[in-house]
Amino acid sequence: MSEPMHRRQVLKAAAAGAVALGLSPRSRAEAVPPLRASGAKRALRVAHLTDIHVQPELRAAEGLAAALAHVQSLDDKPQLILTGGDHVMDCFSQDEARTKLQWELLAKVFRDGNSLPVRHAIGNHDVWGWNKGKSKTTGDEPMWGKRFALDQIGMERSYHSFDQAGWHFVCLDSISHDPNNANGYLGKLGDEQIDWLARDLESTPKSTPVLVLSHIPILTVTGILGRPDKKSNDYNCSGGVMHTDSSQIRDLFARHPNVKVCLSGHTHRLDRVDFCGVSYICNGAVCGNWWKGVHYECREGFAVLDLFSDGSFENTYIPYGWHAESQG
Ligand SMILES: [Zn+2]
Repeated sequence: MSEPMHRRQVLKAAAAGAVALGLSPRSRAEAVPPLRASGAKRALRVAHLTDIHVQPELRAAEGLAAALAHVQSLDDKPQLILTGGDHVMDCFSQDEARTKLQWELLAKVFRDGNSLPVRHAIGNHDVWGWNKGKSKTTGDEPMWGKRFALDQIGMERSYHSFDQAGWHFVCLDSISHDPNNANGYLGKLGDEQIDWLARDLESTPKSTPVLVLSHIPILTVTGILGRPDKKSNDYNCSGGVMHTDSSQIRDLFARHPNVKVCLSGHTHRLDRVDFCGVSYICNGAVCGNWWKGVHYECREGFAVLDLFSDGSFENTYIPYGWHAESQG
């Protein structure tokens, strides 16, 4: 994707073009030269693995191991992995034993098969027991809610930021309680986190490009790909599919033109929305269709991002060749 395209305010589904090139995934990932025509150097190569949904069934752990092996076998190997949430199949509606089993499985695959540093964002399925009925929880368990996941992935707090190679990385927590549904969630930062985000961006030098990672997309077309409502003809995008505070976040980004790219997952689909100088990219799913094959245009895969010193970047989705044992 050339730099001028980033500036166009267009809605764009990006998946088809890459496939149409007819190149192997690996050669596509290696096609990015380390130097821009402008002279800007590549600062960092990052792998974005979202929606892993590991579970004991459907050879999911084997699939994750294959994805990690593929990342690390690229000749031009990434220096950092970002995981985009929904690490486990589900603990939102699962009891403690099942929750523990899935997190232990995830830890084992990463321990045995990954030597790269990893940073995380959490997803809705990573939150333990918010559906109290199905998970058989009371809410008083010390590990209830986000604590279980945070302990497992070694995070103090559910959102954070860090600097690496001249870029600033913001890992958001998209998951808020739904005031209208005690057993549900909404894509929302909440007052405390949005204040933190405002301060974090304020304290980042204007010359430092920013990458934002969230589980739920801040802006996406994937939420309106179905038919409009038969009666109203309105397209409806649920507050669980896209951030409900999208406009507030975008207003904040408008004051910080160094925010360049927002990565997400959650929808297990591939899209890219270039809007007001920010690229919002849904990067598919490691598990594709929850380990049951291809989900619409999205094969089991991950993205590789080349981040350049001038704030430009290239994002490439790479299917890692997984063959699901059952097609959903
Ligand atoms: Zn999700």
